[in-house]
Amino acid sequence: MGIFMEMEDYLSHVADLSDLSLTDQMIRRFSIFYEMLIETNKSMNLTTITDMEEVVLKHFIDSLMVSKYFDFSGCSMIDVGTGAGFPGIPLAIFYSNTKFVLLDSLKKRLRFIDQVLEKCELNHVTLIHGRAEDYGRDGMYREQFDFCVSRAVASLPVLLELCTPFVRVGGKFISYKSEQLAEELGQSKNALSILKCELNQEIPYHIPDTDYSRILAVFNKKNKIGKQYPRQAGKPKRSPLL
Ligand code: SAM
Repeated sequence: MGIFMEMEDYLSHVADLSDLSLTDQMIRRFSIFYEMLIETNKSMNLTTITDMEEVVLKHFIDSLMVSKYFDFSGCSMIDVGTGAGFPGIPLAIFYSNTKFVLLDSLKKRLRFIDQVLEKCELNHVTLIHGRAEDYGRDGMYREQFDFCVSRAVASLPVLLELCTPFVRVGGKFISYKSEQLAEELGQSKNALSILKCELNQEIPYHIPDTDYSRILAVFNKKNKIGKQYPRQAGKPKRSPLL
C-alpha cells in the first residue's frame, strides 16, 4: 500500500476514534495537502513533524478537534501565524462555507499554502502576508471576524495583543495551548483587561492513540479596544502587556 493511501486510511481511522466525521472529498483533500507538505518540506522549512502518523495526529487531528466544541459553519475566521497552514487549512477543508483568512509574516510559507489552496480547490480561503500588528490596525480586518484562532505563535499575553484586535465585539478568540496554559493565564490579566476580553472556557482534549493532551483557551471579546492596540510590529513580543 502506498504511503498516501496509508495516510488516508490512518486519517479515517483516527477521525472515527475522535468522533470527527470526514467525507471522502475531505480525506482526498487532506491527502493532497499531506503529499505537498512532505514534498515541499524537503526543500523548505515547513514542519519538524514528518512521520505520517504524527502529521495526522499532531497537525490534522489537533487542528480539527476544535470543531467538536464549536460550529464555524457560515462564520468568518482568521488564523494568525498560520505557518504551513495550521490550524487554518484543516479547518478550511472541514468547513466549506466558512470565510477563512490565513495570515503569516513569512511569504514563502504563504506561497506554499497558495499552491495547496489551488490544488485542493479551497476557494473560500484568502491569504494575507504581513505582521498581525499591522493588519490588526487596518479597518478591513480590525474587529471584523467572528472567530480568531492561533496555534504555536506566542505566549498568551503577546498572543492576545496580536489576535484579539481581529475579533468583532461578541466574537471569540480561541488559542490552541498545551499544559502551560495556567501559567500563561496568570500572566495575562493586564492584557485581558486592556484588550476587553475575558476567559470564557478552558477545553482540555486528548489526541487518540497518544498521550498527547492539549487545551483550547477560549476568550470572549466584550468591547471595542483602544486605537493604540495592537502596538507597532515587534512591540507586543518585546514588551508584553504583563
Ligand atoms: N500555526 C502554525 C502551527 O501551529 O504549526 C505555525 C506555527 S510557527 C511556530 C509560528 C508562525 O507564526 C510562523 O510562521 C511565523 O512567521 C508566524 N508569526 C509569528 N509572529 C507573527 C506576527 N507578529 N505576525 C504574523 N505572523 C507571525
